[in-house]
Amino acid sequence: MMRSRKFGDVELIQIVEFTGPTHDLEWMLPGMPRSAFDANASWLLPDYWVASTNRLVFTMQVVVLKAQDRIILIDTGVGNGKTRISPHQNMINTPVLDWLAAVGAPPDKVTHVVHTHLHGDHVGWDTCRDGDRWVPTFPNAIYLAPADDWTDFKSRHDTGTLGVHDGPFVDSVLPIAEAGLLRFFAPGEEVAGCLLPTAAPGHTIGQVTLSFRHAGEHCIFSADVLHSPMQVQYPDINSRWCEYPDAARATRRGLMETVATTEAIVYPAHAFGLDGWRIVRQGDGYAVHTGPRSAVPARPAAPHVPDASNIVPRRVPQTAHG
Ligand SMILES: [Zn+2]
Repeated sequence: MMRSRKFGDVELIQIVEFTGPTHDLEWMLPGMPRSAFDANASWLLPDYWVASTNRLVFTMQVVVLKAQDRIILIDTGVGNGKTRISPHQNMINTPVLDWLAAVGAPPDKVTHVVHTHLHGDHVGWDTCRDGDRWVPTFPNAIYLAPADDWTDFKSRHDTGTLGVHDGPFVDSVLPIAEAGLLRFFAPGEEVAGCLLPTAAPGHTIGQVTLSFRHAGEHCIFSADVLHSPMQVQYPDINSRWCEYPDAARATRRGLMETVATTEAIVYPAHAFGLDGWRIVRQGDGYAVHTGPRSAVPARPAAPHVPDASNIVPRRVPQTAHG
């Protein structure tokens, strides 16, 4: 499945491997009260949560930015034919490469693959199977990863302590390094000519968000800082896979503090669609505005999803996320 949106002469494309109610709420967001989801069911259903099975709706995807002469991928989803512990991710087979070609991004034309972090559902398409080997899917691309994630993952791999993340590291990251295609960056160093990474530690030690400004818009690809819009109301609730819980909470609050004073469009890595989220202050906390859905007149007003007309545009000087 493909979606696209233009920012001036830059095209943002979402290539969806799959989307659906895959993750049990209490398992994925430990400590999140089910009652909070029940109270917000009017807007969470069915795009973010399915009540009957108590599953969160997750999207696995590859994000494409076509910017002038560059074709940039932001994370690469699950990938085909990979052995994974998650039944939804194990040995999947999707036409992602056909869809990439269909949007003018065939594998040999991709120039950059930029990673927010190195978890398996973000590096899968880095490689594809060639006989009994995993080889780079995008042979002419520069692959870029946060240096701190590489250092951490590599040392844990070397010491046999990478656990469930070791399989993806071995079949999707190491082959890129061995092919000489992997480069590393630090927060604050622009990558691919248009993306500014900001440190977002917690989910992994080296995770970054990626900031993109063009044609008067500011997009923040927020990686796995947020998995559900309900974390905007409950910012201290981490996902199961946040490896450093206190840092993850601080990063989540920091991101929201930053974007709430701007008009940035937030793109969580597992959110469907290209409307993005707008996060605003509300009382002592934050509210999330999830795109055109809230503009539907019949939709009941919910205090946590302010109508766009209530969002007072504010411009502030550049921030850490700017
Ligand atoms: Zn993820």
